[in-house]
Amino acid sequence: MTSIFTKIITREIPSDIVYEDDEIIVIKDIMPKAKIHLLIIPKKEIKTINNLIESDKILLANMFFIAKKLASNLGVSEGYQLHFNVWKKWWQEVMHLHLHLLSDI
Ligand code: AMP
Repeated sequence: MTSIFTKIITREIPSDIVYEDDEIIVIKDIMPKAKIHLLIIPKKEIKTINNLIESDKILLANMFFIAKKLASNLGVSEGYQLHFNVWKKWWQEVMHLHLHLLSDI
């Protein structure tokens, strides 16, 4: 089944996109839990961290480099959180890998 994030990537549903390249898209979370709350999402549909394979290593690294760059651009390099939720009911609501970037500074 197509994930909601893939529908955002294909522009089937609207979203506030803050960054995009060939393999990654970054959007503003629709229900922000901090002043800044971004979702760094690979375009490849990977369900969870558990589903990563060896060849995803560079993609995963790129997600962190984009997070670092955006934190810098947004002026929050001195304080931000990065996290993945993995499974467990209600922790991972969207079964399409995404890295949360949050900051309140
Ligand atoms: P998680 O619980 O780690 O799966 O986080 C999923 C996140 O996606 C939540 O913080 C939601 O608020 C967010 N979210 C769900 N649907 C959308 C959407 N259409 N646009 C932006 N963010 C969304």
